[in-house]
Amino acid sequence: MADLPRIATNKTVYDRFMRLPLDENLSQLTYIWIDGTGEFLRSKTRTHYSIPKTAEELPVWNYDGSSTYQAEGSNSDVYLYPVAIYKDPFLEGNNRLVLCDTYKYNKKPTDTNHRASCLDAMTKAKDQRPWFGMEQEYSILDRDLHPFGWPKSGFPGPQGPYYCGVGANKVFARDVVEAHYRACLYSGIKICGTNAEVMPAQWEYQVGPSEGISMGDELWVSRYILHRVAEEFGVVISLDPKPIPGDWNGAGCHTNFSTKAMREENGIIDIEKAIDRLSRHHLRHIKAYDPREGKDNERRLTGHHETSSIHDFSAGVANRGCSIRIPRSVAEERKGYLEDRRPSSNCDAYRVTEVIVRTVCLEE
Ligand code: ADP
Ligand code: MN
Ligand code: MN
Ligand code: MN
Ligand code: MN
Repeated sequence: MADLPRIATNKTVYDRFMRLPLDENLSQLTYIWIDGTGEFLRSKTRTHYSIPKTAEELPVWNYDGSSTYQAEGSNSDVYLYPVAIYKDPFLEGNNRLVLCDTYKYNKKPTDTNHRASCLDAMTKAKDQRPWFGMEQEYSILDRDLHPFGWPKSGFPGPQGPYYCGVGANKVFARDVVEAHYRACLYSGIKICGTNAEVMPAQWEYQVGPSEGISMGDELWVSRYILHRVAEEFGVVISLDPKPIPGDWNGAGCHTNFSTKAMREENGIIDIEKAIDRLSRHHLRHIKAYDPREGKDNERRLTGHHETSSIHDFSAGVANRGCSIRIPRSVAEERKGYLEDRRPSSNCDAYRVTEVIVRTVCLEE
């Protein structure tokens, strides 16, 4: 692998500039959006001469869609519509992250704007109070895209000691994980936990429970923050669902789901109804669960490494080899939620939550 130049700059010098006092009514707004890959994020920043309270009060902006795989050069302006704001953990103070969805010149959603139709489904299912919790798995890579902490030639010892591991020979780059956790809490994202994963240099965090459209919003912003935190440490985040072929666990984005009825006494009946509905639409869900209509998940959903086969639908209590798992505690209490284990780590949270709501709540 090619030798990469050293990229660390002097953070002490940087800090001196970041301490310069600013006008107290001024904020720097970093607009964030999903690009034409449907998988990666972009952002740019503007000065705003007040401190925003809601996304609605913020100006529509635009960018060069021909540089993000979203438009032709001859008709390249794509619109950014602010939809949610969060405290900015990088610039702090009055500054904000502004999540946006994207619209073409004709005011139609871009091809990778799945938020628009997700919002439509969430609005129709509002009375059922759909809650989600997503378990985002990811891998930390060096800048040469080799897993962080792995020997540069060869492999670490086989899987076994790494899951929830402690110690410098078992987990790599915990500081990235902790920094991201704090940054999400600061921003107001409902991050609810984190753990080291089965493959060394692989980690997970969970967001939720979040209701309706906010699940997609929060997961996308948590990913933005993760990429930015990693940038500060000079490492790279991969959401590839099978970063290393062979006997190494892939990465998923298990999606936990409940409705109000499922959370109430004897909710297990509604959970079982939902599983029945899901069983009739396996292919439709697989197509929505990664950015390549199931192609990415083909490498991961092999039936090994705590996954079910991509070709079959299955459900079971406490079974991690199923498409849908009912957690043991849910079976005991006869109420709660179900876990869909199929979404890949690089899934679009809007597509995943939308298809679940359309199948289970709207019976489409
Ligand atoms: P696992 O045992 O599969 O590793 P985790 O603890 O990693 O589970 O994640 C559990 C997820 O379930 C969290 O994201 C949490 O927010 C979510 N969750 C908990 N209760 C509910 C509920 N009633 N409805 C939807 N999601 C829920
Ligand atoms: Mn320019
Ligand atoms: Mn988990
Ligand atoms: Mn996991
Ligand atoms: Mn899980």
